[in-house]
Amino acid sequence: MAGKTYVMRPRKVPQVRTKHRRIVTPIPVPESIRILKTLRKYEPVSMSGQPLVVWDRAEGCYVYDRWGNKWLDWSSGVLVTNAGHGRKEIVDAVCRQARKRLLHNYCFPSEIRSELARRLVGITPPKLNKAFILTTGSETTECAVKLMRTYGLRKQGKKKIGIVSYERGFHGRTLGAQQIGGTPELKEWIVKLDPAIWQVPFPDGYWVEDTSFDLFLSSLKKQGVTPDRVAGVILETYQGGGASFAPKKYMQDLAHWCRRHDIVLTLDEVQAAFGRTGRLFGFEHYGIVPDLMCCGKGISSSLPVSAVIGRRDLMDQYPPGSMTSTHTGNPICAAAALASIDIIMRERLWRNAERLGQVMENGLRRIQAKFPDRVGSVQGRGLVYALHMVKPGRPKQPDYDFAFDVVKRCIEKGLLFFTPVGACSIKISPPLVITREQVEEGCQVIEEAIGEAEG
Ligand code: PMP
Repeated sequence: MAGKTYVMRPRKVPQVRTKHRRIVTPIPVPESIRILKTLRKYEPVSMSGQPLVVWDRAEGCYVYDRWGNKWLDWSSGVLVTNAGHGRKEIVDAVCRQARKRLLHNYCFPSEIRSELARRLVGITPPKLNKAFILTTGSETTECAVKLMRTYGLRKQGKKKIGIVSYERGFHGRTLGAQQIGGTPELKEWIVKLDPAIWQVPFPDGYWVEDTSFDLFLSSLKKQGVTPDRVAGVILETYQGGGASFAPKKYMQDLAHWCRRHDIVLTLDEVQAAFGRTGRLFGFEHYGIVPDLMCCGKGISSSLPVSAVIGRRDLMDQYPPGSMTSTHTGNPICAAAALASIDIIMRERLWRNAERLGQVMENGLRRIQAKFPDRVGSVQGRGLVYALHMVKPGRPKQPDYDFAFDVVKRCIEKGLLFFTPVGACSIKISPPLVITREQVEEGCQVIEEAIGEAEG
């Protein structure tokens, strides 16, 4: 389970020169070791989980270092650069705003924050009519927990404060966000867990085979939880670790159950929103609209911006001054978000995600067919996928080391991934501006890397 770190020892690797990738040095680059060592010395160890590529410049679907190497990026940072890395429109908007000399204004009114709040509400379904702009994804899930619990408490008193979330779920690393997360190891440090937060299995269809809504009900029952104790349910629209989606029927039953018991449904769209899954918002796949949604990452394709968007009665529960944040709607970040949203809407990038998602899925299924006892499951939709790696011939026995090895080999071949901590999956999430040729080339690289790791 513990995260692995990459060894800082340059390895001679074959040169790669294609239209989309260029590797011309040992990896990691010998000249980069000085920088890597400085980071290891001055940053916490926890920061050292990613491949040893020292980013210097990134544009479109490419990441460049200073030493002549170029990676085809299948990470989007960490699902951030939906509109592509370093988009000119975003750079221009950031520079324009900076030149106006308004770099910060706290919660004082500003025109650019008003534009962003209006734009966010304008592109979401009518039921969601207020946006609280924040900085990180964790802040949005913390805020959602607070809003859900406050709602239950206000309406029905101290009995109705419970929060239901999902096993294997991830919502960030702050106290509340970790408690609603579904990985027990990550919560050990809390020791005294909130007794009114419960997890239920996520119906991904592979690790959890039963995908019926009965599983939700029976799991709550087993834990002695009745709906009158539940203020809210929060889950990722798809589970990030494995790019796993729930069945449409399950999600519709869940939304119905929440409505029937006056329970707030929050979808954590921090990864899913802004085109990633082949729809502007991931929940569109399920034909439901949540009461609250958490956004982050792809909202700006760049600078730190996040938002809780939700029903007015939920969003307006706190009086003036009591639900704020220092950097809410920072003017430069707001400019970046507005520019990114404009690009995504104008270019309908979710359509590219849907169309090329098909090409991606075909490529990944071909890889699974070639290595059936290594690739346990291919999950995903749009331009987010994961190959779940398992021990040879032992289905459902996660093989973390093998996944790590395959990612390392891909890095050496010029295909960039991020390494999800403690996951046995190879997570695929390129910028949504990717082309068919780039998808096909990337799949080819993964196929080679798995073949070599097998050998
Ligand atoms: N929710 C989800 C679904 C996420 O994937 C993440 C980040 N990976 C977060 C919340 C937390 O976001 P942040 O790291 O910006 O706090």
